[in-house]
Amino acid sequence: MCFPGSNRSAFSRRQFLASLGAVGVASLSREAIGAVSRFSAELQSRSQIANSTPVPVKNRTPLTGNAFYLLPLGSILPSGWLKKQLLVQAHGLGGHLDETWPDVGPNSGWLGGTGESWERGPYFLDGLVPLAYLLDDGRLKAKAQKYLDWTLDHAEPNGMIGPKSNDDWWPRMVMLKALTQYQEATTDPRVIPVLSKYFAYQRETLRSRPLRDWGRYRWHDEALSIIWLYNRTGDSWLLDLFKILQTQGFDWQAEFADFQYTERITPEFIKLASNSPLTDRGMQTHGVNIAMAIKMSPVRSLLSGSEADRRAALHMLEVLYRYHGLPNGIFSADEHLAGLNPSQGTELCTVVETMFSLEQALAIMGYPILGDRLETLAFNALPGAFTDDMWAHQYNQQPNQIVVSLQKEPWTTDGPESNLYGLDPNFGCCAANFHQGWPKFASSLFMLSSDDGLVAAAYAPCEVRTSIRNTSIHVIEETEYPFRGTIRLTISPASPLAFPLLLRIPAWAENASIKVNGKPTDAVKPASFAHIERTWRSGDVVDIQFPLMPRVSQGYHGSVTFERGPLIFSYGIGEDWLKLRNRGMTADWQVYPTTPWNYAIDVNRDDVSHSVSVVESKVDENPFTRSGAPVKLQVKARQVPSWLGENNVANPVPQSPVKSNEPEEQITLIPYAAAKLRITAFPELET
Ligand SMILES: [Zn+2]
Repeated sequence: MCFPGSNRSAFSRRQFLASLGAVGVASLSREAIGAVSRFSAELQSRSQIANSTPVPVKNRTPLTGNAFYLLPLGSILPSGWLKKQLLVQAHGLGGHLDETWPDVGPNSGWLGGTGESWERGPYFLDGLVPLAYLLDDGRLKAKAQKYLDWTLDHAEPNGMIGPKSNDDWWPRMVMLKALTQYQEATTDPRVIPVLSKYFAYQRETLRSRPLRDWGRYRWHDEALSIIWLYNRTGDSWLLDLFKILQTQGFDWQAEFADFQYTERITPEFIKLASNSPLTDRGMQTHGVNIAMAIKMSPVRSLLSGSEADRRAALHMLEVLYRYHGLPNGIFSADEHLAGLNPSQGTELCTVVETMFSLEQALAIMGYPILGDRLETLAFNALPGAFTDDMWAHQYNQQPNQIVVSLQKEPWTTDGPESNLYGLDPNFGCCAANFHQGWPKFASSLFMLSSDDGLVAAAYAPCEVRTSIRNTSIHVIEETEYPFRGTIRLTISPASPLAFPLLLRIPAWAENASIKVNGKPTDAVKPASFAHIERTWRSGDVVDIQFPLMPRVSQGYHGSVTFERGPLIFSYGIGEDWLKLRNRGMTADWQVYPTTPWNYAIDVNRDDVSHSVSVVESKVDENPFTRSGAPVKLQVKARQVPSWLGENNVANPVPQSPVKSNEPEEQITLIPYAAAKLRITAFPELET
């Protein structure tokens, strides 16, 4: 990995000198040079960074403290099925997009070329950087380095970064996220001064060139990078910049305090002109904007210290899902909010941006329910939008998705390619932006609490290296979760150390149990963090057991959806894959059904376990695929002949309960993500 303490200082000096040569001393402002000197001094003096194991930099006053702090990139390394999944991404489009898609290829504006110069390069980097460092993959690091070097070495004398062909603040907000992750993984000393100088320039310029369109609605993502830098340099003027962005940026909290967008949005309602979403109503109902906005109130709370700001994110989620929640765990947004009908879709950017918002909001506020939501997306809607090899993805995915084809319906404003599996269906934002989903999830599994505790925020196989009060800690998490309910943590501090271990207990986890070195702990409460406070010694073992009882949730028209742990289950309709066209190294695909899909299910909601047979098989390669699905549910069903599809879209699921005289069948449900054609919300049979 990239953190050996002995190499780090040598690397830093060499890189620092090189960067001065490349950027030119004269081009660094006195402010920026001061920031570098202060930070270098702090690197040596602040004990929390001095250790060879990287630890988070906590919030400085006057910022409110986070509940938890994300660990620097590279502290958590994936293992087991999670590592295999990241390798699938790296071997697919995730590791090859620049070789086959000109928008992030050699002519990218973010490499100094004349090609795409807006958000696509930064989007790609925001996921490529963590993917490369989590896999310690030299090939991917080298790919990322080209864009990072160009950005760091071509800052203008006034501090502006990025391609000269546009001065839009928005794409730079994304590049800042890539740069901060890269600095955490490498400590490259060019990053802090470039960020300082850019923010100083922006502070002076925003009055005459204020935030507009996308940047105005997404200002809080830049605020995260401002806080990141403030915590390292202590320059108070950065908080002034935060306030300017907040003043110029849109107030999402106000939108959700008096929420007007409770119905499916229509083009007429948002007054679209030339199919552009850039009207106020269009921006305020746009799925990706709303996904990103989930973090706005928590981020704002860091400066305001307001309890109302902290709670507002929970209110926003409650309102959003009440009117637009879908049974696959995401909200409908086939460009704009689209109501509760499970035949509506959600854009892939909305999925990965909701995940990033939840990761940040969970760190700031520490509410366990945010971890539940995060896992639901990571284990269902995220992999559900990709082919098994991650060489193709959908723009819009549907919980009830009976055909994948060129179809105008049911999208509000999106084009006919929206649910194809392909290189860049409908619009290329998702092709550039999806990369952050898995790597940032892996980086969020463990956090440190404000009182120096270790927090298991989400669960998947991994290994953690961090330190608490200058004592190195090594944690191995062995698990096949979410396919199994057993999790073993082996905790090894370098020397015995007292600290709290916080374990997230999901809201669905009734009768969960925890043992420390074989001894049961006190009762464990769902929807909470279990605290285990003791002196930890090398090799201590914590065993967590989540009973994965099948559950049923109810949704649109009384429909039922089956869940088990954080996994959502769907009926996998038979699939016939038809290549629409080749696209360089990949292809665009349609998928047609080969079996019936219009089933209603017989379920006793008071005793779901008796309505469902669980069939487990080995957790092996690629568990989010039909052939590799390690858990299946068998249920009793009957077809409902009156439930039909129209224009390749399943009609809204009929109001439950429904009657059927068709013969009873046993059908098999598989994890949502494994079924590329699927029914997820079923009518319930009348008994
Ligand atoms: Zn997108």
